[in-house]
Amino acid sequence: MSDTPNNVADADAIRELDRMRPPDEARAIIDRTIQKLPPEMVRLDEAAWRVLAADLVALEDHPPFAASTMDGYAVFADDSSPWREVIGEQNAGNVIDAEVTDGYTVRIMTGAPVPRGADAVVPVEATELAEDHVVIHQEDVQPGANIRPIGSDVRKGDLVLPAGTILGPAEVGLAANMGFNPVMVSRRPRVSVLSTGDELVEPGEPLGPGQIRDSNRFSLCAALQAEGCEIAFSGQGPDNRDELEAFLRRRMATDDVVITSGGVSMGDLDLIKAILFDAPDIDVHFRRLYLKPGKPLNFATCGNALIFGLPGNPVSSLVTFEVFIRPTLRQMMGAREIDRPRPPVILEHEVQASDRIEYQRGIVSVNDEGRLVARNSGKQQSSRLASFVGTNALLVIPPRESPYAAGESVRAMMLAAPFARP
Ligand code: AMP
Ligand code: MG
Repeated sequence: MSDTPNNVADADAIRELDRMRPPDEARAIIDRTIQKLPPEMVRLDEAAWRVLAADLVALEDHPPFAASTMDGYAVFADDSSPWREVIGEQNAGNVIDAEVTDGYTVRIMTGAPVPRGADAVVPVEATELAEDHVVIHQEDVQPGANIRPIGSDVRKGDLVLPAGTILGPAEVGLAANMGFNPVMVSRRPRVSVLSTGDELVEPGEPLGPGQIRDSNRFSLCAALQAEGCEIAFSGQGPDNRDELEAFLRRRMATDDVVITSGGVSMGDLDLIKAILFDAPDIDVHFRRLYLKPGKPLNFATCGNALIFGLPGNPVSSLVTFEVFIRPTLRQMMGAREIDRPRPPVILEHEVQASDRIEYQRGIVSVNDEGRLVARNSGKQQSSRLASFVGTNALLVIPPRESPYAAGESVRAMMLAAPFARP
């Protein structure tokens, strides 16, 4: 089937393909095609920011023994005399053979096992050493004082970290603590990024007449790196159609996700759109959205590969990455947190609405009353990459005939934490 319909059925299929879809419908279509990536074992020192592929259930108690939380003296709490004879010294990392009974004590260090018989630790500050005796300057020593009981942090059988957890500093530390090394995580998504367009030159090369520098590849690769992806290829696509198609096929055969930028709008030279559409083994699922920027986003599948044909405008390609590709990658990795938070925010100025859902680059901060307030970053043209700089959110502006007034509430897709009021 080519873009020029031969018969009524083809015409209907093309009309359906070109139907303008709300972003939610597009998202649901993408979600149905997502397959989870297989798990792999990685050493803990290489596991930072990876996504756990299986629950980590404690195989032991932590701490594995009753431990002192202070440097001091291990005592029998009910002992009535303040004078104790010191019968040993218990450091962390071994167990001495000593039993604490009435009249006796063991010097003990933080993290060391509490000796037999002792049921409390008196901190060294509350004691006074006199030759082989120590005087306890504390009236009522409570049983259990300054002792961390067995399993008080984690109990054997507890769910330590559920599958889908992203392994940040505390999570990696906890896994180490509980003896999990290596850990099972999802394979990183293999992604290729391909810029297309005859006008593009590499940054660092001189510009010829009518040329611009390729920026999309660099911003998309940065966004992919932030999600922990493996960038399998990044470069400019060949400019002739057959070579471009052959190249795309090679990428689709090995990569999980293929991202192209440019060549999906209405021009004659919009090769990506034509290649995806004409290939019998590539399934195009949608290619027009009620979205601003990002109307001509093409989404296709070929075998197991997902193909996102992003529009060439730098802002459009980054916005469509945020709205569709990032949540896709997170689902492939099985992450529990898929979507950015979208709290309501109060507009600080009037905002024009469009006939499509618009994602405006926004600056969200916390005002003096603790409310989230938002303004946009000025001119919102999809070519103006600078409109992203210094922002921390995409303001979601639903379609409407009249503008949104200052004081009205919209949702903000938070890309980073809100700013404090300057
Ligand atoms: P297109 O989607 O191919 O029609 O491109 C729309 C606009 O984005 C045009 O002004 C292109 O020059 C520009 N553009 C396309 N690809 C890139 C790129 N990789 N980096 C920066 N600008 C681009
Ligand atoms: Mg183009």
